Amino acid sequence: MEQEVGGTRIIPPRADVASMVGYYSPQVDVKVRLNSNEAPEPPPTEFVNRLKDAIDEVSLNRYPAREADELRLAIARHHGVGVDRVYCANGSNEVLQSILLAYGGKDRSVAVFEPTYALHSHIARVTGTQVVVGTRNDDFLVTIDEFDRVSRLGSTQDFEFPALTFLCSPNNPTGRLEPLSTVETILDRAEGLVVVDEAYGQFAPRSAVDLLESHRNLLVVRTFSKTWSLAALRLGYLIADPEVVEALWRVTLPYHLDAIKQIAGALAIEYEREMTDRVDSIVSERARLIDSLSQLAVEVVPSDANFVLFKVTRNDAKAVWKALVNESVLIRDISSVPHLEGYLRVTIGTPSENDRFIRALSAALG
Ligand SMILES: *Cc1c(COP(=O)(O)O)cnc(C)c1O
Repeated sequence: MEQEVGGTRIIPPRADVASMVGYYSPQVDVKVRLNSNEAPEPPPTEFVNRLKDAIDEVSLNRYPAREADELRLAIARHHGVGVDRVYCANGSNEVLQSILLAYGGKDRSVAVFEPTYALHSHIARVTGTQVVVGTRNDDFLVTIDEFDRVSRLGSTQDFEFPALTFLCSPNNPTGRLEPLSTVETILDRAEGLVVVDEAYGQFAPRSAVDLLESHRNLLVVRTFSKTWSLAALRLGYLIADPEVVEALWRVTLPYHLDAIKQIAGALAIEYEREMTDRVDSIVSERARLIDSLSQLAVEVVPSDANFVLFKVTRNDAKAVWKALVNESVLIRDISSVPHLEGYLRVTIGTPSENDRFIRALSAALG
């Protein structure tokens, strides 16, 4: 028998990884892209020009500031918190990954409430963390009864409760904002940490940031991808108790935030007013889009984010999605997600993109 030698085969990844499906969102070449909840406009021209000038000054041969102090200070000032409460990473997805690397793992569980942002449970599983799944009510909101029920299911070797409870508010893909009283009650009852993913925080009238002073177990996660028009940059952050921030640094790779990103993030915050103006226009476009949608054969879910979830009631959702692609309008087909049969999600675009979407949708519905 010939002995098998190195270089002839590839071992499979860890069994649980082998059975996982990675993140999937079709990228089709279209004129109107309303599928990824990005900002419809680029950041302010003056910001871009100043960023270009600043890049000229970067010593590319040197490692960047390891703890990104200036960027973290700018974020801390923006929120009126101490810099020791701020942690940054390459997109809020990486922030979530750091949280799970530090607080998840094989002897622990996390709680999520479906339908919600798929990456919470996905990253949990990647880190070997058990996931206990609750369900939102008919209005896509988390109830305290359901939180209590799920918390009892989270018993693992380390704790009798989920180490982390994930809330996404406003929730992707439903757009619903949890009432602050729900977040507060969950924070009061949770024995573990509570992560509030506020990727869409600025589009909503309330934020969990206000609860940080009173609740040490609260972790608020935000991103520059949506409101700040900087999805290409990959920058997200967390505000939490300094003890949590300190734990996250332990699982962070050295020099994980590149120098250009650090400069860009701090500079972006100088354009807060421009960002707020853009958010205001998107919020008023959202009202206009919801108004147009409500005149068609669809059921619209109220939204506090920069996207709108709607249910196709008389047609096949996938067929409608395809008809829109044929008109060069790309939205997100989430009709095969559990609890969301028949639903599609559209990102708020520019006024003309929204008009084009409404025209195409109205034609597709017949
Ligand atoms: C878009 C999104 C993110 C990811 O943002 P990045 O900062 O681009 O990684 C995180 N959470 C939710 C709920 C999102 O919708």
